[in-house]
Amino acid sequence: MKKVSIIVPMYNEQEAAPYFFEALDKVIAGIQGYEFEIVAVNDGSKDETLNILKAEFEKRKNLVVVNLSRNWGHECAVRAGFINCTGDCAIPMDADLQDPPEVIPNMLEMWEQGYKVVNAKRSSRKADSSFKKNTAGMYYKILDKFGKKVKIPQNVANFRLIDRRVIDEVNALPESTRVFRVEVPFVGFKTGTVEFVRPERVKGETKYPLKSMVNLALDSIVSLSVEPLKFPIKLGVGFGCLAGLSLMTELVFFILNLCKVTHLSTVTLWGWLIVTLIVGFFAATMLIFGLFGIYLGETVTEARGRPTVIVDEVLRK
Ligand code: UDP
Ligand code: MG
Repeated sequence: MKKVSIIVPMYNEQEAAPYFFEALDKVIAGIQGYEFEIVAVNDGSKDETLNILKAEFEKRKNLVVVNLSRNWGHECAVRAGFINCTGDCAIPMDADLQDPPEVIPNMLEMWEQGYKVVNAKRSSRKADSSFKKNTAGMYYKILDKFGKKVKIPQNVANFRLIDRRVIDEVNALPESTRVFRVEVPFVGFKTGTVEFVRPERVKGETKYPLKSMVNLALDSIVSLSVEPLKFPIKLGVGFGCLAGLSLMTELVFFILNLCKVTHLSTVTLWGWLIVTLIVGFFAATMLIFGLFGIYLGETVTEARGRPTVIVDEVLRK
């Protein structure tokens, strides 16, 4: 029988945890033909979460409790779950039921059709505040812009099914800054999507303050691409063209002035030249920064040591 691992990171989730187990059990009971393993990761909670997990551990056979040494953050907690899961596929889910377990059967159906990754896409964010909706929209747009070859699916967070093959590839990635939603599209494989409406948190408060959201956004961009480091080069080229154009136009006016066709004053011509030189100087500075950026990008890429290619399968006769 195929085994499905449900990975649930928990930080101060004493209020939501009982609801989570109840809702998950109900869905699992209705799914035949699979064995389920729940990997609950206690991410250094300061409340009763660990005790709740220990009590659940005594009651049930299918629970693995991973207790982290301190609060490492959501991404690290999910990673600890992936390292300790033994399923043929795994589904990371939030503890507050904002990733509804009712979606699991649809994900399994697509997995059986041969998809190695099944993204759960938020078709609606009705439950989110307009601030969260707007910032999330911006976040996904920026990721979309910077992801050249790696396309980041919009409105897909950690909630997704990934096959054992993909789990192993993601676990093997060498970097220490982990952003799961960037790593999965990076490793690739046949990917499908199911949609769901994201409900409100069942109990308790968000464990993701604005500071953590900003950090996640920065980590995502850095982990996705070194493109931002090329920004000064683009700026330098842009301003360089502007300075060149300005210089050529001034030259034309200078000649026209000599031929007495136009009558620009010497002050105007000098002023113009000085502005052009300032723009040119700015362009040169940016180009030098850009050059550093390109080499820094290379260094980052090399230091990260990600695989340069991942093969799905080879057919050979
Ligand atoms: N979480 C965690 N460590 C943290 C913060 C959050 O393991 O440092 C867990 C949390 O318990 C929940 C999931 O990550 O299961 C998502 O957090 P939350 O629901 O608070 O985020 P939001 O839905 O508000 O973005
Ligand atoms: Mg939540």
